[in-house]
Amino acid sequence: MRKKIVAANWKMNLDLQEGTTLVNELLKNAPALSPERQVVIAPPFVHIAQTAGQLAATAHIATGAQNCHHEGAGAYTGEISAKMLKSAGVQYVIIGHSERRQYCAETSEMLAKKTDQALSNGMQVIFCCGEPLEIRDADTQNAYVQQQLEEGIFHLDGSQLSNVVIAYEPIWAIGTGRTASSAQAQDMHAHIRAVIAGKYGADAAENMTILYGGSCKPSNAAELFACADVDGGLIGGASLKADEFLGIVTAMTNS
Ligand code: PEP
Repeated sequence: MRKKIVAANWKMNLDLQEGTTLVNELLKNAPALSPERQVVIAPPFVHIAQTAGQLAATAHIATGAQNCHHEGAGAYTGEISAKMLKSAGVQYVIIGHSERRQYCAETSEMLAKKTDQALSNGMQVIFCCGEPLEIRDADTQNAYVQQQLEEGIFHLDGSQLSNVVIAYEPIWAIGTGRTASSAQAQDMHAHIRAVIAGKYGADAAENMTILYGGSCKPSNAAELFACADVDGGLIGGASLKADEFLGIVTAMTNS
């Protein structure tokens, strides 16, 4: 049975004290989760050791990172390697978020290398894909997302792929309040699963966790997560408040 996951992407929000308080609130109020359900908290890098320490005794809430560097070590001032993240307690690394693709000029080649770094250091990857509005308007989103997957993760073998989660995040829905409809999300998730099946076979596709991201909130999470191919969510804005995030976690536990 594939895992259902709700992952919090705090982006560049919350100072260390605010982040510590939020994690404590989540720990205090999170619903019990069955083994095939997982929550991930991805704070900014400087909070990670603190967050991982707070979550160390709670297996169903894991620590994530929002990025890692594409090289293993060396003269890259200001950068953070996958090995450093692993040593600080990180279990999941978000790779290929559209904001990093856009603002940090991350190329598919870099994302493939970042994926290799995270996997070879024993972490799971949350690989993001998703189209901008003009691609959706031209109705070419399926080919666009397929190419992102081919370039970012199709160099992996089947056993490596089993440590990858895909997050479909239409760029026009991120932070805009404009959520994809459940039909749009389901159509794309089914397409992604078919693309994975075409390359890696039916079992790999069936076991692949595919998250939806883009203005997911407690009020729309249950409908999105009820879709057959939506296995949870990657949550930005609504992950910054304990009650909102826990509302989404509860929707995942009930799905
Ligand atoms: C995101 O950036 O991963 C995201 C889904 O953001 P939001 O929930 O704020 O749209």
